[in-house]
Amino acid sequence: MIEVKGAGKQFGSISALNRLDWTIGEGEWWGIIGPNGSGKSTLMHLLSGVERVSSGMINIRGRNVADFSRKQLSRMMAVLQQEGIAPVHYPVREVLEMGRYPYLDWLGRDSKEDVDSLLEGIMDKLELHELAERPLDELSGGQRQRVALGQVMAQEPQILLLDEPTTFLDIRYQQQFMELVANWRRETGITVIAVLHDLNLAALYCDKLLVLRDGREVGMGTPEEMLTADRIRSVYEVEPVVVAHPASGVPQVLLSRQNL
Ligand code: ADP
Ligand code: MG
Repeated sequence: MIEVKGAGKQFGSISALNRLDWTIGEGEWWGIIGPNGSGKSTLMHLLSGVERVSSGMINIRGRNVADFSRKQLSRMMAVLQQEGIAPVHYPVREVLEMGRYPYLDWLGRDSKEDVDSLLEGIMDKLELHELAERPLDELSGGQRQRVALGQVMAQEPQILLLDEPTTFLDIRYQQQFMELVANWRRETGITVIAVLHDLNLAALYCDKLLVLRDGREVGMGTPEEMLTADRIRSVYEVEPVVVAHPASGVPQVLLSRQNL
């Protein structure tokens, strides 16, 4: 459903991405990994239509991303950044409602009959009822990220783009966030593309990983195929120990102290 054909991006003399070629199927969960500056966020910007490709093209459901209007794109895909949403002084319920923006007509009427029950359902799933009237800027980072997820759920997209969504969360909220996305995908068949710094979370949750380095694809495949000690060593320049997760068997990456 998402076809990336020879896509590249230049910023002046900087080549941020070079000739990427792959297809993401409907309902898959892809992780994008790679060192800082490898082009991960640039790729998310190209996929979401925020930036245009300098070469090649990106098609979504057979149509060039550049040919969709902003509103059409927002009805199809939602983007969630590292810091979620700006900590505005609006109650949580209103912040969720803002996710409906792409569906409002010029009179501000929603094309959906029953928005209230949609929002109720989201607040149930994300346990946001007790926070509904609290202003967003008074919540903790983990709570805010949950509200941000609620807002993109209200947007009812078919594609979810996440750019390092768990970076500022403690391990409990990291796990909670990933589980909520996993449940959402199970229930709706949504396609998820997530830039993740945490290789172990990526291995636990993603079907496929795309590994970038210096704007180039250095590999694409299952976590088992991608997270080998050799590949991690060459991509990140560390000396890793890769073990199988004792419960699920997926690869988990450990570092060792260098000077003992
Ligand atoms: P990552 O998200 O993997 O850390 P980015 O996609 O943010 O990497 O950046 C990839 C490269 O592109 C970097 O060298 C960065 O400096 C450059 N870059 C990204 N956005 C811009 C921009 N708007 N203008 C100029 N250079 C940019
Ligand atoms: Mg980035």
